[in-house]
Amino acid sequence: MKAVAIDFETANERRDSACAIGLAWIDDGAVTRREYRLIRPPEMRFHPGNIRVHGIWPEQVADEPEFPEIWAAFADDVRDRLFIAHNAAFDSAVLAGMLARYGMSTPQFRFACSLQMARRAWPELPGHRLNLVSEFLGVSFQHHHAGEDAFACAQIALAALRKVGEAAFEPARARAPRRGSSAPAFTPGRKSRIDRLAGGRGHPVITVRGSRGDAWRVRVAMEAGARTSCDCPAGRFGRLCRHVQALADGVIDHVITCENVELAEAVQRISRQIRR
Ligand SMILES: [Zn+2]
Repeated sequence: MKAVAIDFETANERRDSACAIGLAWIDDGAVTRREYRLIRPPEMRFHPGNIRVHGIWPEQVADEPEFPEIWAAFADDVRDRLFIAHNAAFDSAVLAGMLARYGMSTPQFRFACSLQMARRAWPELPGHRLNLVSEFLGVSFQHHHAGEDAFACAQIALAALRKVGEAAFEPARARAPRRGSSAPAFTPGRKSRIDRLAGGRGHPVITVRGSRGDAWRVRVAMEAGARTSCDCPAGRFGRLCRHVQALADGVIDHVITCENVELAEAVQRISRQIRR
């Protein structure tokens, strides 16, 4: 899939008041490029409520380029890509608003919404805002920084695609019944996820997708001297399986979910255990 996650911050209530843009390119299941730019909005009117959310002040963008110059730098590299945004209604309206404001041509952009994708992939979560889903997936990021938000949006879309395949693009229904053969063989327990979001302390578990599409659970040992284990056949025989080895090497593109631990912290711990 060739896509680009996009996120805007705006100076005020108007959709044509973008003051920051974040982009994260997705190629074949991984984020391959990230960009972040401050924008001088067409009208230098900042609403205090907007500043409170994103922390961008007028003086920070006063000397920045306006939107046409910034968009020109990326237009070729986003052409023909699927745009993905968390609550795409907002970001697609800002993009259209900015292009219209400057009298630029507005091609037929295709937008997918990672908020809808998250609802589709993890209907059991109590909420699907960017920060909630990111925390659930173990994606650490700084919320309301456009560059970070775009990256988190890309990770959510990738994780949703790994979990439910192309069905992630179908409209989400409230309490959609779990069905379909594209779902991983193993579905992590619903209770532990809710516990996690409620601040409960379950055991750190990373669910990874194996080479044949099976999902395996890697229990991350957090205590000194303990070894991380995996419930794949090799792991059950006490061998160092490719799933744990990959995590030790920092390879995380097969991670489906990460519960009760920050993924970065888990990877660090596992690699230390393996090296020992
Ligand atoms: Zn394994």
